Amino acid sequence: MKKNKTYSILFSLFVMSLSINSTVAFAQTTVQKSTTTKEITKSKLTEILEKNRTAYTKGKVADYIPELGKMDAKAIAFSVVTEKGKVISVGDTNKKFTIQSISKLIALMVAVNEKGEKNVFDKMGYYGTDKPFNHFANLESGKPLNPLMNAGAILTTSLIEGEGEVGFQKILKMIRYITKNDLIDYSKSVYESEKETGHRNRGMFYIMKNSGLIEANDEEKLNNYFKQCSIEVTAEDLAKIGYFFAHQCTRFDGDTTYKNSEISTLVQSQMLIAGMYEYSGEYARRVGLPSKSGVGGGITVAVPNKMGIGVFNPSLDTHGNSVAGYQMILDLVNEYHLNLFE
Ligand code: GLN
Repeated sequence: MKKNKTYSILFSLFVMSLSINSTVAFAQTTVQKSTTTKEITKSKLTEILEKNRTAYTKGKVADYIPELGKMDAKAIAFSVVTEKGKVISVGDTNKKFTIQSISKLIALMVAVNEKGEKNVFDKMGYYGTDKPFNHFANLESGKPLNPLMNAGAILTTSLIEGEGEVGFQKILKMIRYITKNDLIDYSKSVYESEKETGHRNRGMFYIMKNSGLIEANDEEKLNNYFKQCSIEVTAEDLAKIGYFFAHQCTRFDGDTTYKNSEISTLVQSQMLIAGMYEYSGEYARRVGLPSKSGVGGGITVAVPNKMGIGVFNPSLDTHGNSVAGYQMILDLVNEYHLNLFE
């Protein structure tokens, strides 16, 4: 009997030691996975870009805003800001295009900085969507679904304090800060084109004015939304924006003036659930990273605590996302195992 008990104690100790060993082994593989991102090289980015150079033929340049239709469907650029803040860009790196919906991230940041998250989200939801970006969704009977579809974004911009152009200027200033590029400005011709043809957006603005969500007396707040969409950037600027939100609002050169992990967590969570419009769910399955696209053909991606990615090609799929841009992101994510859920 006594002998049996001794055996059973010894056996238990043996099993315990096994399980401790396997815990240690598990911890080691976990640590290994998160620290061993291979170094991103310019030649790798070039290889991925060349592979997707002709993907533009599978999409169409947006022309519902007539000025956008003038974009060169073949222009393509790919940029990464690495973990250490190094910028690597290939393709048409100097090619400017309008930021469009990606500006909604910055407007959200500015509005939440001023009003606090609660006051902003009292007026809109944290919901994802199966509807296109310009859908009225439940606006007629309730509040905009989220701050990244047009309705919520127009409302977000209208919440930024200041008369006339002030709200827009705050957004522009923040984009210039994040990209460290004071030359960034908006395209007057795209702005005029958006203003002239943005009847759906104007419709949303007035429904929200009717329900008391928007207090503005005139259309200046709506004009600020059109202006923010018309800000011109490069793929490199987008990579810097992605990096900023991936690093608790720290700029790519290490500047921490706006460091705020509450804001970066909020913005990235919205990017994940609504950043690619109604494609967001499937995109999360395939890419698994917070991302935001715009109908100008840009996409910005935040790889949390690691890097920022910016892509550009103006040919869009049916959801309004850049076809080649999406493919380049997917190839990079697979090559470097960047999917958060992998
Ligand atoms: N300015 C565009 C619009 O309001 C932005 C839409 C987008 O990029 N998805 O229609």
